[in-house]
Amino acid sequence: MEQKQQVIAWYFLAAFLVILTIQNFFIQGHVESLPYSEFKALLHAGKVKEITLTEQAISGSLSDDSLEGLVAKETAERLKQLGKGEHLFTTIRVNDPSLVQDLEAAKVRFAGQVESKWLSTLLSWVLPAVIFVGIWQFAIKRMGGGAGGLMAIGKSKAKVYMEKETGVTFDDVAGIDEAKDELMQVVEFLKAPDRYRRLGGKIPKGVLIVGAPGTGKTLLAKAVAGEAGVPFFSMSGSEFVEMFVGVGAARVRDLFEQAEQKAPCIIFIDELDALGKARGMNVVGGNDEREQTLNQLLVQMDGFDTHKGVIILAATNRPEILDPALLRPGRFDRHVAIDRPDLNGREKILLVHSKQVTLAPSVELASIAARTPGFAGADLANLVNEAALHAARAGKDAVDMEDFDEAIDRVVGGLERKNRIMNPKEKETVAYHEAGHALVAEARPNADRVGKISIIPRGIAALGYTQQIPTEDRYLLKRSELLDRIDVLLGGRVAEELVFGDISTGAQNDLQRATDMARHMVTQYGMSESLGLATFEEPRTSAFLNIPVSQQPATYSDRTAQAIDDEIGKLLADAHARVVKTLEANRGNLEALAKLLLEKEVVDRATLDALLSAQAPVGKDSDSGGETTAHRPSDQREPG
Ligand code: ADP
Ligand code: ZN
Repeated sequence: MEQKQQVIAWYFLAAFLVILTIQNFFIQGHVESLPYSEFKALLHAGKVKEITLTEQAISGSLSDDSLEGLVAKETAERLKQLGKGEHLFTTIRVNDPSLVQDLEAAKVRFAGQVESKWLSTLLSWVLPAVIFVGIWQFAIKRMGGGAGGLMAIGKSKAKVYMEKETGVTFDDVAGIDEAKDELMQVVEFLKAPDRYRRLGGKIPKGVLIVGAPGTGKTLLAKAVAGEAGVPFFSMSGSEFVEMFVGVGAARVRDLFEQAEQKAPCIIFIDELDALGKARGMNVVGGNDEREQTLNQLLVQMDGFDTHKGVIILAATNRPEILDPALLRPGRFDRHVAIDRPDLNGREKILLVHSKQVTLAPSVELASIAARTPGFAGADLANLVNEAALHAARAGKDAVDMEDFDEAIDRVVGGLERKNRIMNPKEKETVAYHEAGHALVAEARPNADRVGKISIIPRGIAALGYTQQIPTEDRYLLKRSELLDRIDVLLGGRVAEELVFGDISTGAQNDLQRATDMARHMVTQYGMSESLGLATFEEPRTSAFLNIPVSQQPATYSDRTAQAIDDEIGKLLADAHARVVKTLEANRGNLEALAKLLLEKEVVDRATLDALLSAQAPVGKDSDSGGETTAHRPSDQREPG
């Protein structure tokens, strides 16, 4: 680097010297520029020897140097200092019709000359063009991600990530055993393609891995490559779609070419939905580029033959928006769904990730798993990392349970915002609200036990929360359990009513969820007395995942709609009355718990037990019901 700079410096110095020499050689002496008036005076005094005229300038030489009185003093001085010889001068030509006459009168030799244009042409035309091309090249280089030159736009070498060895095995993937089993066949094939070829077995070309973000789709694809010991080509769907039409298609072609040379191997396309959205779904104009890219992918998938040993894995979390053409036989016709891990799975994933950190003997991964329902693999990996960071910050030798507590709080509720100031009145409201949730949860036999109550504001929305610990993951819920959940949700609001005789906006989220639950009971689970067993709505979630798809139009009459609304209203009113009764009976506990919360901000299970046994224990009132219903495990937090 340094050497190169030296060379450049020498080069410029040499060029500079050459130019100086040339100038010295060709332009001897000194050229003095004069005002036109002085030139005229010299002309009249007969001092001008000969001149050359161009359209814009006059240049020539003077015959002697006694110029006193004809030119400015300094000019005369300078000309004198230059000594003998020809005194060259130039002047700007002005519009002077008598010039030629004067020249003739003074008997000066004069000649016209056509100005040479090459220099001005160079400056005004060639140079801007050169600069323009330079800037353009630079811009292209930047847009092409450093791919360089104009010719390289369509080459995607910089964007295809090829890993010879992913280093990931099935051991690194925990809690999703069914998905692993399904992909085992792909591994077998890649390991010994010849055996399958000989027997003529049919091998899937494309496998679509469907799952929520962070559930380990990429990890699983890498593990397949790692297990089979084949190269792993990966690209993200959004990277295919570039600003120039045709580039994405070229990238697809390039990707497949590269992969075929390295077969057997795996091509992994992340975010397939970015590229494979159903064609014609765009309302605002079409996206030609995306369609071309998608078409190219389809052509490429149809064109190559599996026996070469290239298998395409793709991942998406939105299978329902994919173009149906992608899912036809011979393309992504195998689907592997990955769910968020259950209690058991979470424990296994925690085990995988905590291998890299030193755990204190007190750490029980099972209890951490129990407190993290709904966490995906990536969240759990993050959790372990947060806990390790917390331990390191505290200067501990091992990560203990307290670090995990802190990490769960962090991941669950966003960073603690201890410095956010709540005014004392607000804080009191939140304390009674959360105490209300907690006491109703304690009073209901079918509600999950309270693990922790906090009124430290977290994130933007939640002012406090009551965390309940489910003893197991639930896929079926009884009517009595649903009712108890509604009661717990209303607990916060009712506590505010009882204590302050007034209510706040903090319960909005609770009410929303209570209403949704009541609506589901009536319209989907057939749990209402007056409407009976009929269901009135399709579940509004996609078949694959717990994400809403477009709303179905109502398939019932206005009268039924009225009946549904009445029934929801009745469920909520009954729940409200029950909760009022419970909290009135527990008024002493409510006051005590709220006071304790105001003082300590966080109340854990042990403190709660101590408080409840000192006060009158919370009476359990029971509620019976027999029906069961499919229900996703619900979020256990009670924000607000
Ligand atoms: P996705 O592609 O589904 O969005 P990733 O595969 O990128 O998710 O997962 C991100 C990270 O989360 C992984 O690198 C891994 O550390 C962790 N992870 C996710 N799922 C699992 C799992 N089942 N077992 C172990 N680790 C997991
Ligand atoms: Zn609440």
